[in-house]
Amino acid sequence: MGKTIETLGDLKRALARPDSGLRRRPVKDEIRDNLIRKLRNGDTLFPGIIGYEDTVLPQLTNAILSRHNFILLGLRGQAKSRILRDLAGLLDEVIPVMPGCEIHDDPLDPLCSACRARVAAEGDDVTVGWLPRELRFVEKLATPDVTIADMVGDIDPIKAARGGLGLSNELTMHYGLLPRANRGIFAINELPDLAGKIQVGLFNILQEGDIQIKGYPVRLRLDLLMVFTANPEDYTARGKIITPLKDRIGSEIRTHYPLTRSHGMSITGQEAWLDRRPDGRTLDVPPYLYEVVEEIAFQARAERKIDKRSGVSQRMPITCLENCVSNAERRALAADEDPIVPRVTDVYAAIPSLTGKFELEYEGELRGADSIARDLIRGAVGTVFAERLGHMDMQRVIEWFDMGGALQISDTLPAADLLKQARGVQGLVELSEHLDVAADAPAPLVASAVDFVLEGLYAQKKISRSDDRGYQAVEQPPRRTPRTTEPSFDETLPLPGPVKKKYYN
Ligand SMILES: [Zn+2]
Repeated sequence: MGKTIETLGDLKRALARPDSGLRRRPVKDEIRDNLIRKLRNGDTLFPGIIGYEDTVLPQLTNAILSRHNFILLGLRGQAKSRILRDLAGLLDEVIPVMPGCEIHDDPLDPLCSACRARVAAEGDDVTVGWLPRELRFVEKLATPDVTIADMVGDIDPIKAARGGLGLSNELTMHYGLLPRANRGIFAINELPDLAGKIQVGLFNILQEGDIQIKGYPVRLRLDLLMVFTANPEDYTARGKIITPLKDRIGSEIRTHYPLTRSHGMSITGQEAWLDRRPDGRTLDVPPYLYEVVEEIAFQARAERKIDKRSGVSQRMPITCLENCVSNAERRALAADEDPIVPRVTDVYAAIPSLTGKFELEYEGELRGADSIARDLIRGAVGTVFAERLGHMDMQRVIEWFDMGGALQISDTLPAADLLKQARGVQGLVELSEHLDVAADAPAPLVASAVDFVLEGLYAQKKISRSDDRGYQAVEQPPRRTPRTTEPSFDETLPLPGPVKKKYYN
């Protein structure tokens, strides 16, 4: 388009031809038009947004069709910002603008005095520029120190001094974020964090559709889609949002965490960085590991020791999975293994990616984030283990331990060494076949399956495990210990560092 339309005259002629595909309309109509085209063609509206098909997306579609300014209400890590950024995909690919204009003036109806002067002087010969849609999305994280000047603009004394211009001359204006978003989408994240005065300013813009920069006689009629995000509790708390502003936001749309584990796994699998091939090695993440990592987030969201108001972001399973893979990568490089297969043990090594992802209630604070994270992992392993292998008879394996058998497994133990130990336990390695891992599969896969079985039995308290760094000094129980007296080391022994060695007995 930019090739054939170079001047205002070209632009006028193209607009007069219905077949040019070029149309001039306000942003909200433009987004609505493009959405309607996608709906008609049956296109995916928001590629990469998983699990919102029947809940959030229909409401979002309605808000756009209604030409509403809207707000997404949800806890952290519910893809709110991502949805807002994806709105840019509903804009026209390019729009004609006055080249160099900070507020993206429409050549047919420029707002700023500089552009108006140019059009008046050059007429239809004025050059037209083309603005791609990616540059028409402006985002601002609300903080209490955001000022009206940041949002709307103020006098630029340097411009004034340089040009020898009077301070009320429009050419001395420094535009704020809103005018710079003109003819595009303006997104404010965490709206309740904006000071009341700024909210009043926003209300005026939504109400009047124009802004006035302090000290200047001109009003700018901005063309914007305004979208917001907020934590639902902050948004509904009395006094956080001025009522007239709330009243001007057309639709409130509630987001949510994945409703099913499989939705969660799809998101995590899509977002986590797993495309790594150190030294050309391949990565193979077993399905049960995806399940365990996702289940941690589900259990964390249901855990009463964790603050429900701030939520547990989907970033938790994403970063956890990345860290698991990294621990497996580290082991595989040291032991020269291929493929790289993460184990449940690596999930414990990924605790640093979990502890920052939740806020603790008082009771949780007493126990500490590290200990809560361990409980979550153990609970998640127990759940997935029960689903996958709950129907299996594990008695032979359990008896082997009850007879005094013990295994020593660290998170850096090479797969071959792990299997050498595991083969001494009757029936243990064979269980991997029930996880769809053939007995003759590559050693790292079988080792991971064995590790899952051991961790599952531990999670279900069928065997005990210590995270004892001085594990060699631990005495073997000479005979079966009554289950009720089995120590739960995680609960009683605070550990100085990350898990290094594990001792199953
Ligand atoms: Zn301009």
